[in-house]
Amino acid sequence: MRYPCGRQRTLAREVEIRGYGLHTGRPSSIRIRPAPVDTGIVFVRGDIEIPAHYRWVVEVSRATNLGREGVTIRTVEHLLSAFAGMGIDNAYVEVRGGEEIPGLDGSSRVFVQEMTDAGVVEQEKSRRCCKVVEHFRFEREDGSFVEVSPNGGGFKACCTIQYNHPYLDFQSTVFEYDPGYYSEEVAPARTYCFYEEIAHLLKKGLGRGGNIHNAVVIGAEGVLNGPARFEDEPVRHKLLDLLGDMKLLGSPIMGEVRAYKAGHSMHLRFLEAFVGSRAYLWVDGK
Ligand SMILES: [Zn+2]
Repeated sequence: MRYPCGRQRTLAREVEIRGYGLHTGRPSSIRIRPAPVDTGIVFVRGDIEIPAHYRWVVEVSRATNLGREGVTIRTVEHLLSAFAGMGIDNAYVEVRGGEEIPGLDGSSRVFVQEMTDAGVVEQEKSRRCCKVVEHFRFEREDGSFVEVSPNGGGFKACCTIQYNHPYLDFQSTVFEYDPGYYSEEVAPARTYCFYEEIAHLLKKGLGRGGNIHNAVVIGAEGVLNGPARFEDEPVRHKLLDLLGDMKLLGSPIMGEVRAYKAGHSMHLRFLEAFVGSRAYLWVDGK
């Protein structure tokens, strides 16, 4: 049986993770708890619950932020990517210190390690899947796009980046659902930025928790704080982000997703347009 068909999954036990917010630079800690079938991923802060769903997205400026009734949960995409990569459908994420998910090393590696240590268990109900039945593309005038197409079951994602930059111009990568591959080849890929952007980011109040250990800084000659973990670490991180943002659909996609020069805002615009289309059917993944 190929993912996303199969039973829903959650963690076998609680997990606690501490760190600092990548953008706020403040201490933060989360506790991830197992959840019953059909819960989805739900963030909890105080007595407010915010489902990991695109309708609760309040901001997509460099990171994906959720909000409800004055409560904000910032930078959810790397944690959501870990849930997606591990095939975990249901969990509560209590956000305790601060309002941002810990940034850790700028990747989803620690989340995956902790989830793997805790163990992942199958639940008694099959997944509801979003089966792509016809090609659908959301694109911008600059040629960037996110598109989906049917692929006879299973899940596949292709991600391509292209910059007009002397060191980083074109990179492309493909992922077919496999938690082992995700944890080894995708989860360790760190967020990245261009050297020229750093001053601008700090001025906007973003990236305050960024340092040479949790972001790959790319200069004209190459990675300034090397070595890179992979030769194509940037596009692997783009894939990590894409998988995390697609989790905001609330159900896994059965089909192939292709993203070209996309980012958080494009991912979210795509989801909204796709849900309003006739390009998919809800199916029981049993
Ligand atoms: Zn990212």
